[in-house]
Amino acid sequence: MPPMDMDLQRPAVAPAASVPRVDLHTHSLYSDGTLTPEQLIARAHERQVGLLALTDHDTVDGCQAAARASTALGITFLAGCELSGLWRGREIHVVGLRVTPTAPALRTHLGRVRAQRVERLRAIGERLTRCGLDGQGMSAAVLALPGTPTRMHLARALVAQGHARDVDDAFKRWLARGRPAAVPAEWPALEACIQAITAAAGLAVLAHPHRYTLSAGQTRELCAEFRDAGGAGIEVSLAGMGPGAAASAAALARRFGLAGSLGSDFHEPGVPWRPLGRWLKLPDGITPLTALLGYPSAPDRLPAP
Ligand code: AMP
Ligand code: MN
Ligand code: MN
Ligand code: MN
Repeated sequence: MPPMDMDLQRPAVAPAASVPRVDLHTHSLYSDGTLTPEQLIARAHERQVGLLALTDHDTVDGCQAAARASTALGITFLAGCELSGLWRGREIHVVGLRVTPTAPALRTHLGRVRAQRVERLRAIGERLTRCGLDGQGMSAAVLALPGTPTRMHLARALVAQGHARDVDDAFKRWLARGRPAAVPAEWPALEACIQAITAAAGLAVLAHPHRYTLSAGQTRELCAEFRDAGGAGIEVSLAGMGPGAAASAAALARRFGLAGSLGSDFHEPGVPWRPLGRWLKLPDGITPLTALLGYPSAPDRLPAP
């Protein structure tokens, strides 16, 4: 058989199991995820993830352990974080990728946010105590955990003490806006989040644009301001994003010249719509964020770590 025919018989796409996956949005128990960095990386390895970023809420504390575990398993690891910011009074998340965890500007930013979070958790605890619960005990227990203390940790404590059926119920009953223990967060401005990431040599990515309650016009204004403040990318392929939301995010990426990022927003095993690792599949006409990071866009040609 001539070589040409051989080529035609070869499958156009490499067999699924041999193509490393890319995941640029994941959490560990250094924020509101449930796995240690080592467990997260072991799971990523099982799921053929070849390039992974750990992006815990407002911390890089899990990155050293994750980097070590990644090296041992042949995974290319990027230190990252997911910063909570405010834009026009709304909470917006900014993913920082390939940050230098020791950069002074990033450390200062994270230190300030941690101090605000500690204050907020204590204030929520006091409100729960006024409602007759052991709020101070719960907030003290959450503040003793490693990493970023979040309302998710308090929600789990409320469930464990029988004050809610599950974490959703804990938010609905106690923690969400308008509920008895709600305390608003004073996050840094969006621009400050972008600056903290870029000052740490990282790339700033607008997280899950479909999850904000903004009009289409406001979302376009957000993207324009995000790019003008130094933002590099936008999440266009996230686990749980429907086709409509993905198409809108892709249109925003094209319109504002933002690179497309992708990931799972993995928090814990057993959530079937947010599996760790996704196939690198970006819509046409979009620069993959991996290309800005210096990786070829074909995931099967990732360099060894
Ligand atoms: P925090 O950053 O401390 O405000 O905690 C926010 C975390 O709690 C988020 O990352 C979500 O995972 C979770 N969360 C926030 N609001 C809700 C809600 N209404 N229902 C369930 N989980 C929520
Ligand atoms: Mn979270
Ligand atoms: Mn988020
Ligand atoms: Mn996230």
